[in-house]
Amino acid sequence: NGKKYSFMVRTAIPGGKLNSDQLMAELDLCDEVGDSTVRITTRQGLQLHGVPKGDLKKVIAKINEVQLTTIAACGDVERNVMCSPAPYKGDPVYDQMQEMADRLASHLRPRTPAYYELWLKDESSGEKSLVGGGLDGDDVIEPLYGPTYLPRKFKTAIGLPGDNSADIYSNDLGLMAIAEDWHIIGYNVLVGGSFGTTPSAAKTFPAIAMPMCFISPTQVLDVATAIIKVQRDFGNRSDRKVARMKYLIRNWGLERFKEKVEEYYGAELHPPRPIHINGHNDGMGWHAQGDGKFFYGLNVENGRIKDEGSYKLKTALREIAKALNPSLRLTPHQSIIFCDLAESAEATLKEILRRNGVPLTEETSAIRRWSMACPALPTCGLAITESERRLPSMIDDLEEQLSQLGLADERFTFRMTGCPNGCARPYNSDIGLVGKTVGKYTLFLGGRVEGDRMNFIYKDLVPDEDVVDELVRVFRYFRDDRESEQESFGDFCHRIGKEGLLEKCDTSQ
Ligand code: SF4
Repeated sequence: NGKKYSFMVRTAIPGGKLNSDQLMAELDLCDEVGDSTVRITTRQGLQLHGVPKGDLKKVIAKINEVQLTTIAACGDVERNVMCSPAPYKGDPVYDQMQEMADRLASHLRPRTPAYYELWLKDESSGEKSLVGGGLDGDDVIEPLYGPTYLPRKFKTAIGLPGDNSADIYSNDLGLMAIAEDWHIIGYNVLVGGSFGTTPSAAKTFPAIAMPMCFISPTQVLDVATAIIKVQRDFGNRSDRKVARMKYLIRNWGLERFKEKVEEYYGAELHPPRPIHINGHNDGMGWHAQGDGKFFYGLNVENGRIKDEGSYKLKTALREIAKALNPSLRLTPHQSIIFCDLAESAEATLKEILRRNGVPLTEETSAIRRWSMACPALPTCGLAITESERRLPSMIDDLEEQLSQLGLADERFTFRMTGCPNGCARPYNSDIGLVGKTVGKYTLFLGGRVEGDRMNFIYKDLVPDEDVVDELVRVFRYFRDDRESEQESFGDFCHRIGKEGLLEKCDTSQ
């Protein structure tokens, strides 16, 4: 019919760990067959946009050649397993978490041979190139997913009370590591988080995960399997809008859900340990790893790797790979960490970035560093409003205003999405901006950087051009009435509440 189709191709990268050659392969692909950009996703993966249908096989095969894979990056299966990315080698807990992320990702990966048959079979030789599993034969053996897979996507993340950078409360399954003497003794298991909602369906809602039990590291794979099987067997398969595990848990209640998990697991599970979430380490800036080497976290605005005008991040990354060949980590805030560097590499790295017009993290404002936007228009078919294309200029205005208010150094998360699906996790951030109708947003306030609290709707249907003024009024109130320098913007909004904020800041009242 003459129509042309293009696709988004997402690579799942457990814990965001990859090497320079793998990133270079994705950069080459974006130039060869994509839209000349690569996007670091909010789940530590990579996305190519605008890949023509006819090039899909070539792209997936090339990704596979460099030992990455697109399998289960999308679909009604376990998605990319996230993990706190900071590459501390002096603290073995970080490596233990990353190792668990790899084991979980491998254990929960679909076993179907169809992916390999479709995308990786070399038709000339009949040989298959297999990365990340896959079985031969005609019978599809799916010990976890069965013949029907899951009712809906399933997301898992691993973090620490002192570093919830993987935002585990927003996941179906969260594993909060509890460590003693530099060793993980177990995990609090959190269940039922997810931010997707459908505006036309009142029965849908965003939710943060709830603590269900405490397990030892040796129990993780089996308990995760039991949880996923309960969702597989009892999750809603007649209405996709309410098919995520959060709805099953809210319908049943946590106790009944836990009992069913225990039945599938085959033993009782201990209650969760009391924990206090008190940190989010985004890994930005220059730091010692603890093994004599260093890492540098570079803020990448909205995760977009591109060359545009004088900003040449793509070129800089190619030069850095050639000069330093660092191992890499992608962060849940869509940024990149260059790892395993010699102390002497700092000058080379920063010179390359500066020469290519890429602002260093230490030259980036706090509001920009702690912001995220989903792609929205023009690439996402569900987008109602702008997001990634709009947030940078909104931040330009806010940087100026915050500076005038003396709040330039305040740390708060600011996340924007083009529809209520909430891909950039706007429902637990200090400020959330969610596209509602054309040119208008719902403004959420009162979450926090640590990610363990939902925010609330401050105002609905705020026109794009009014957002900055609305926020400035609340910032001013915060500056004048915060309890102490330690009270964060989100904590202030949470303490004052919607009515209190409106009373002081709503000029229409
Ligand atoms: Fe698309 Fe909505 Fe997700 Fe943004 S939040 S990427 S608009 S589905």
